[in-house]
Amino acid sequence: MAVEAFRAARKRDGTLYSSSFRRSLLGTFFQLIAYGRRCGTLDDLAGTFTRVPVEHVISVEEPNEDFIGKAIPESVIRQLDTHLDTLGTGNTYGCRDIAPDARHLLYRTMYTVLRDTGRRPLEIVSLSRDCLETHNGQPTLIWDNHKRKRHRRRLPITTSTADAIRTWQACRDQLHLPAKGDRYLFPSLTPLSDAPYISSSYLSDALRLWADALPPLHAEGTDSRGQRLLFDRSLIYPYAFRHSYAQRHADAGTPVDVLRELMDHKSIAMTQRYYTVSLKRKSEAVAKLSAHVLNQHGHPSPSSSTAYEMRTVAVPYGGCTEPSNVKAGGQACPIRFQCAGCGFYRPDPSYLPAIEQHINELRADRETALAMGAAEFVTTALTAQITAYQQVIDRMHKHLGSLPASERAQIEEASTVLRKARAGDNHTLLPLTTVRPKDPQ
Ligand code: SF4
Repeated sequence: MAVEAFRAARKRDGTLYSSSFRRSLLGTFFQLIAYGRRCGTLDDLAGTFTRVPVEHVISVEEPNEDFIGKAIPESVIRQLDTHLDTLGTGNTYGCRDIAPDARHLLYRTMYTVLRDTGRRPLEIVSLSRDCLETHNGQPTLIWDNHKRKRHRRRLPITTSTADAIRTWQACRDQLHLPAKGDRYLFPSLTPLSDAPYISSSYLSDALRLWADALPPLHAEGTDSRGQRLLFDRSLIYPYAFRHSYAQRHADAGTPVDVLRELMDHKSIAMTQRYYTVSLKRKSEAVAKLSAHVLNQHGHPSPSSSTAYEMRTVAVPYGGCTEPSNVKAGGQACPIRFQCAGCGFYRPDPSYLPAIEQHINELRADRETALAMGAAEFVTTALTAQITAYQQVIDRMHKHLGSLPASERAQIEEASTVLRKARAGDNHTLLPLTTVRPKDPQ
């Protein structure tokens, strides 16, 4: 019965403790019994109350943590962000020696890093004190993948995330905390703690207390009476932010191999599941966008959804209707993807971000060509491409602007679905950049 109690030990939120923690509790319990017997304090305990080696064990469960739980929707994260002023204000255990402002900043920074970087909770709490680097103006987070034992990984982060870390670093430098946590960004706050940094269960508890005290959070969608659905706040826990990070990138069309690197996944199959788009959703998205296809001059060129799907292949900056390229799955463009000047080019609104990015890259190339003193025809050709692509997106924006807001929202949703479906194909068409980890030092 005692062993059963340890097998079923649960956290305050009702979920089971990890098998390793339950095994550790059980082991400590039997050590305590043995110590009591040695000291004579448990002499009255029946001799049969002892551990049966094969029977009284808790097996190691190795759930793939990447499959646990779900992403917190972006709309819910936006609601959480509006309540950050209360994060950490109601929880003082382990923090009584820290001023309320500093305590609030500590929690807020952990939340920000969790939300913006998609690292696992242990990877967040164990970040080193000097976890920031800057390469060519791009801030980078240095972190340890404890799960795969890959250390000093590098992740590009936004300037605002880096600023949040720096603000906390400056505050942290003023605090008098136990020396054993000196190396860590989020050090242990009490000398009684075993670990030199804040435990991930502590982060989990803090998040739980905060989320439970918030006013109602709304999920996406409405019920049968048109009332906004409530979001189940038990789904807010640290690991869920990792799923949100991955889903955010998949929805934005980040190619699957790039996201795999960002997530530091061992297998691409693990990353691939964030791109799952049902055939039905994809067909609906194609049907919606086929009515908003343009040609290379930016003029409407709508087609039936069947024709759009059957006679078009996705190339980097739009659809292509050139038959031999369609047959080759988009890998056999006869004129090296000079789409903006090609009569077979058929972009739809889902390609807007890719076209805008391509224009920026062409502009950068033109600057480089000018700086190198390249021949005039080089810059002329680049300018012509920029002008042609710009014309396409200007006309597309104008067309979208003429539509009712509800129609635009549907187009945006359909665009997200198609970008995600395309990005999930395991081939990189757009040259996005990640910072590759250096060799372990
Ligand atoms: S340049 Fe023309 S043929 Fe080549 S991929 Fe673009 S649209 Fe297709």
